[in-house]
Amino acid sequence: MSALIKVYGAAWCGDCRRAKKFLADQRVSYEWHDIEQDPSLIPFIQEKNDGKNIIPTIVFPDGSFLAEPSNEELANKLGLERMGMQHAYDLIIVGGGPAGLTTAIYAARENLETLIIDAKGLGGQAGVTERLDNYPGFPDGIGGAELADRIVRQAQRYGVEMLQALSVTSIEDAGAEELRVVVSNGDHYEARAVLIATGSTYRRTGAEGEDDLIGAGIHFCSTCDGPFYKGAKQLFVLGGGNSGLEEGVFLTQFADKVTVVEYKDRLAGSQVLQDKVEADPKMEVLLERKVVAFKPKDDGSGKIGTVVLQHVATGETEEHHPDGVFVFIGLDPNTGFLKGLVDLDERGFIVTSDTLMTSLPGVFAAGDVRDGSTKQLASAVGEGAAVALQIRRFLDRQLEEAVHPGG
Ligand SMILES: Cc1cc2nc3c(=O)[nH]c(=O)nc-3n(C[C@H](O)[C@H](O)[C@H](O)COP(=O)(O)OP(=O)(O)OC[C@H]3O[C@@H](n4cnc5c(N)ncnc54)[C@H](O)[C@@H]3O)c2cc1C
Repeated sequence: MSALIKVYGAAWCGDCRRAKKFLADQRVSYEWHDIEQDPSLIPFIQEKNDGKNIIPTIVFPDGSFLAEPSNEELANKLGLERMGMQHAYDLIIVGGGPAGLTTAIYAARENLETLIIDAKGLGGQAGVTERLDNYPGFPDGIGGAELADRIVRQAQRYGVEMLQALSVTSIEDAGAEELRVVVSNGDHYEARAVLIATGSTYRRTGAEGEDDLIGAGIHFCSTCDGPFYKGAKQLFVLGGGNSGLEEGVFLTQFADKVTVVEYKDRLAGSQVLQDKVEADPKMEVLLERKVVAFKPKDDGSGKIGTVVLQHVATGETEEHHPDGVFVFIGLDPNTGFLKGLVDLDERGFIVTSDTLMTSLPGVFAAGDVRDGSTKQLASAVGEGAAVALQIRRFLDRQLEEAVHPGG
């Protein structure tokens, strides 16, 4: 049903943006119709809403529609699973990205009753990535959404229960070797082990036009997307910290020129990296500039055409036309709901032992959210498999202890 959902709204409408984001987060495709760009659509909206202009009005393939729906109403309409079939599980996995889904496949194959809870749509960052070219087994690359769908189907085949559009808001030690997982609608579930696989979020610039051009000229991973730019004239790197400089130097193998744009009046990366940048004839640095807008090419390709920078001190703007833009302004782990429960590093990533267990027995972590992880899909999947085996061992030991206390 998803392919034909039509969202009618306007660029200035906050509720329209929220609804579009919700659909995108669930990886539900839809057509966007801007009624200001095309006023001939207004009578249609009025006809649906008893003469009123209500946006967003969302029309579903079966002809039914919702006017200004809440996320809850949208989730119900889309038939998203939002309530577990049981109250207690062997394993609850927080985060249905590649790491969480892989653990679920392994755990369910071992007959562990497993529940995944994801705040958005299943598949995680991989699911919203245009194309994956470095994941083993796909010599011609694979679309992120397709790979995510395949992993989800595989987990479903083994009977993993999955809830979407529900955030885990806290995890509590419920005593008697039980953990309580509380979700955003107020429900809670108990488990003998919990895996945190909530990933991390690349910081975005927030500049106008950014959302529409992600994957179409705006990128957050140079190892992943740099090779698409072989032979490019110019690439932009936003952020002059260690990541920006390191990735910038890496990107010079693909482009004639790599321009680092930094908001402050000096680079923040280490001196060694700064020296490397200075010595590299392909590198250029623009200081005291922030990006205020990204614009598509006007050839209808939907690819990035223009980057508008504003000089921080003078407010003057300038337009540039790089082939692609890589954003390295920070990565935030999705661990806000864990404060005080498990040990985190200074940036908020979860610290684990060599069995991938956190400081709270029974709570494990894997994938991008883990301190020291490599932020790559193949590693997330690998950690998902590794942690599943550790969880199995932990649960076996727990059972053994219950049967033969102290033995
Ligand atoms: C644009 C882009 C392109 C990329 N390209 C590549 C590539 O080409 N090759 C490559 O190897 N890697 C690539 N990566 C990185 C790769 O996608 C990640 O390394 C991988 O997805 C990490 O998997 P994960 O399961 O650890 O976390 P994620 O994929 O981030 O999944 C975490 C999940 O947890 C959920 N979640 C977060 N908080 C909560 C909560 N409180 N309650 C419930 N659920 C929660 C999220 O909704 C999400 O679905 C790319 C990343 C991005 C953003």
